[in-house]
Amino acid sequence: MSTRDSDLQGPAWDLTAEYASLDSSELQSDLDRASALMDEMEALTPELGEAGSPSAAGSPSAAGSPSAAGSPSAAGAISAAQRVRKLADDADVLLRNVAVFVRCLLSVNSRNEAAQVLNGRLRSYQQRYADLLQPLTQFCDLADEQTIDAYLSDPQVAPCAFLVRHSRERCHELLSLPEESLVNGLSRDGIHAWGNLYDQLSGTLSCKVLLDNEQREMGLAEASGLLQKQDDRLRRSSWQAINQAWEGHEETCAAAINAIAGWRLELCRKRSLRRPVHFLDAPVHMNRIQRDTLEALLQVAGEHRELARRAARLQAAAYGKTAIGPWDSRAPAPVISQDQGPGIAFADAVRLIADAYGGVHPEMGDFVRMMVQNRWIEGTRGNSKRPGAYCTGFAKSRTPRVYMTYTGGASDVITLAHELGHAYHSWVMRDLPESQRSYGMSLAETASTFGETLVRDAMLQNASSAQTRLEVAWEEMSALVTFVLNIPTRFEFEKKFYERRQERPLRPAELKSLMSEVWITWYGDAVSEPDPLFWASKLHFYISGLSFYNFPYLFGYLFSLGLYARRQAADTNFYPRYVALLRDTGRMTAENLADRHLNTDIRKPEFWRDALGALAPRVDAFEDLLRDVGRAPAH
Ligand SMILES: [Zn+2]
Repeated sequence: MSTRDSDLQGPAWDLTAEYASLDSSELQSDLDRASALMDEMEALTPELGEAGSPSAAGSPSAAGSPSAAGSPSAAGAISAAQRVRKLADDADVLLRNVAVFVRCLLSVNSRNEAAQVLNGRLRSYQQRYADLLQPLTQFCDLADEQTIDAYLSDPQVAPCAFLVRHSRERCHELLSLPEESLVNGLSRDGIHAWGNLYDQLSGTLSCKVLLDNEQREMGLAEASGLLQKQDDRLRRSSWQAINQAWEGHEETCAAAINAIAGWRLELCRKRSLRRPVHFLDAPVHMNRIQRDTLEALLQVAGEHRELARRAARLQAAAYGKTAIGPWDSRAPAPVISQDQGPGIAFADAVRLIADAYGGVHPEMGDFVRMMVQNRWIEGTRGNSKRPGAYCTGFAKSRTPRVYMTYTGGASDVITLAHELGHAYHSWVMRDLPESQRSYGMSLAETASTFGETLVRDAMLQNASSAQTRLEVAWEEMSALVTFVLNIPTRFEFEKKFYERRQERPLRPAELKSLMSEVWITWYGDAVSEPDPLFWASKLHFYISGLSFYNFPYLFGYLFSLGLYARRQAADTNFYPRYVALLRDTGRMTAENLADRHLNTDIRKPEFWRDALGALAPRVDAFEDLLRDVGRAPAH
């Protein structure tokens, strides 16, 4: 039985149900309609100001202020706000629909000129939409309780109650209206300029990598691609070359990271008039979790450091080393046999995933087959395709799409399972009001990681070759090391940096020694040396729009593992509870979600301990597997 190359490739997706083409009249009429809706929003804006700017700006929580819901001006503002909300929802659906269509076309062919042009045009629509939404956001944050109750009493507006109330939890931080708009205006050339500077730098920096005994100059993106190669020495020299390039710009990076943190800390100070505002308040709130939950999570990660270090040492042993290097975080499984097998045909991958999903409930297997039958998956191998994989969806039809490049490797199957998990998540939410269908980053990976774990287990059981088993188990171990050692390293560095930054900016040498110190705290002897320039080379520290872009990864990973552990505990009622949980991800905090659907308090360590504890036998199994293929460490 041989698998032909063409069977390995995935199918092309079908987008024509949304728009026939870029110049379809339906697409143009959607944009025209969005414009008309935004005109109406604009016309209503002056009426909104009346309840949005009362004395409430000084004391937003003071109920019963003069502009309370009963007064005539407040009544006008409330009905204007309700109308703006509905107009905005309608415009948002249309704009997102076109944006997703354009993005899909550009992913398949990044040189699609017409799509590029429309993308540029679309940006001005999106900017206008964002500007027009501002007054409504301010109204919702600043109005008194009575006004908000009246605003939410409209049945069409009521579904956004969670979003409104959740946002208002931070209204004690608000400055006056003119101050807020001043901060907003200045941020473009303030904090965001530092982020842009970093992006410019990383996009134009080059480094010299020793390749086949020859120094080759290349961009950082190409050099970091080499970190995924089999050759241990090549990974090491690429990492060294990348760090050398960053070291040449360490003053610039230090200026940027100090300015970004300084801006945020100064804003926290200014916002602390009513109640002290901590630099972790914003990221924690944005992820819809509490500080206690974050602390429990990190505590349990710390308790399981040794388990993750063991996984790292086993990976090192597979490469004939005693410890991994900082250049190994994306190292592939070593090749243990030349017999690589024919690859997994796309149809076989779909069968495998549908069976694994269907093992939870037949509906989940049917969903996978439906995605294929409807041609909602893009998996071809095109030359102009953009790299990567994602799941998206059309707002009008509420149908998901999965994008990837399928070539028949074990990791492609896992990627497909992951993206189908995202698609399933959006599918079970398809009948909900628009305002309840978006979730924070902490819960965004719930269904994807769950689906990935299901399929990985199935592959470990059914894989015919030792090489495939090794590749599947390898990814599982890499995830453990990344989430339990690397992510906490990033978090602890950022936290300690913010604490010290309150006194003064840190010098590059101080940033390097802080990073090394934290690195060793987490990795211990599982790593041969720390990565002192990680604060410069890691883009995540320079995203000016959000801070602490690290712990949500750890949360998402452990939350779905915890869910998986629940499923394995032979809970017969698991499936309906799982679907109910997914459906509530857009209208609840993570604590309430876990309390309602899992009967657990995630502010306490137990849930997280169960999640990570379930991985110990997996590390044992990985060691057995290495022993079978003669790569286990000597005891
Ligand atoms: Zn994902």
